[in-house]
Amino acid sequence: MIYTAKHLVIGDGKTVILDGALRVGEDGTISSVGTKQEITARYPDEPVTDYGDATLLPGLFDMHVHFGYYYSQPDQANFDDFMIAYYAAEQAKHAIRLGITTVRDVSSPHNLMKQLRLAGEKGYLTVPRIFHTDTGICMTGGHGHDDGIPEVDGPWPIRKKIREQIRDGADWIKILTSNRASIPEFTQEELDAAVDETHRVGRKCVVHAGIPPSIQMCIDAGFDTIEHGTFLTVEQAEQMAEKGIAWDPTITAYTVLYEFTKEIIASGADPSDRIAAKAIRDMGFFEPAYFAYKNNFKKLYDTGVTVLAGSDMVLYNAPPLPINRELSLMVEYGITPLQAIQTATGNPARVLGIESLTGQLKEGLQADLIVVEGNAAEDITALNRLKVVFMGGKEVHRSEA
Ligand SMILES: [Zn+2]
Repeated sequence: MIYTAKHLVIGDGKTVILDGALRVGEDGTISSVGTKQEITARYPDEPVTDYGDATLLPGLFDMHVHFGYYYSQPDQANFDDFMIAYYAAEQAKHAIRLGITTVRDVSSPHNLMKQLRLAGEKGYLTVPRIFHTDTGICMTGGHGHDDGIPEVDGPWPIRKKIREQIRDGADWIKILTSNRASIPEFTQEELDAAVDETHRVGRKCVVHAGIPPSIQMCIDAGFDTIEHGTFLTVEQAEQMAEKGIAWDPTITAYTVLYEFTKEIIASGADPSDRIAAKAIRDMGFFEPAYFAYKNNFKKLYDTGVTVLAGSDMVLYNAPPLPINRELSLMVEYGITPLQAIQTATGNPARVLGIESLTGQLKEGLQADLIVVEGNAAEDITALNRLKVVFMGGKEVHRSEA
């Protein structure tokens, strides 16, 4: 089958083909990419689906999800293992509906993502391609300990926990080492051990770090991706670029938290009220976080650090997996739509080590692709107008409108 559209975005941050076309073979891989004229001339007998004034682009990646994160639900007590599994299945469905064909889950309840992936392989559900870290690891009393993340202290216990998680099917290892306080959590010795143990067995590790002292310790330890990096400095981004450490800023999560909190405060909340008091206290972090992203994103991007798109949206009532908003914010803060799309296609594929499988519209890769209305190469909000989603050449979603 040949698919054509007015615009075709490769996913490498720069290439757009006008009046583009690609041919997908019987095996679900892309066998040819070019202009409509070239491809239809090469395969004159092949049926053609033309999407008109639309953009063909690679399926999107969300590099920071928590499919099993039910902790902010108001009826937490209803969430036993069964409900958590249904919740995760619903998240997977949302992902597909939003054109997200690959996710990296960076902490969910033990075994949830492994089983969700298996359920997808068995054909029970349609799920995106899944990479996961199982539960993640925090220090005793550290960030995430109240959300069921195992608390482990000391280099050898950390190595043992990593071995257990890999034994149990984790693709990546996740360490959490900072909260909103200015004091880092794990010691350098512990972080070094975590990275060494993970790399020693050929895996990669991701770390949650938001404040400059923690970020620096994680750069020194040599993690593969740094999540949030909210107050990342230009000097640190330069070091990351040099060491090949990618940055997953999760701008939307902090933006939405800032907006929510601002609304609570603006509604004339009484500071003696518990929720209002918490909002006022949280604003001390969310406001500088919001402005740090807004003012620094472009400068940090320009250091050449590999940027990844991750949504990290776990707030109750917030739109799930808003990767389209993440890319819009990147564009609002100064990069081009093509560069933003690369953070959710070519870049994450390379960081996950699957660039020879998917992540771009190139010959020989799996046909994980989406079609959106309009010209996404110039107007990133085109991603809000999703028409069709394919995984491995198979249509897995079509918008009604
Ligand atoms: Zn997260």
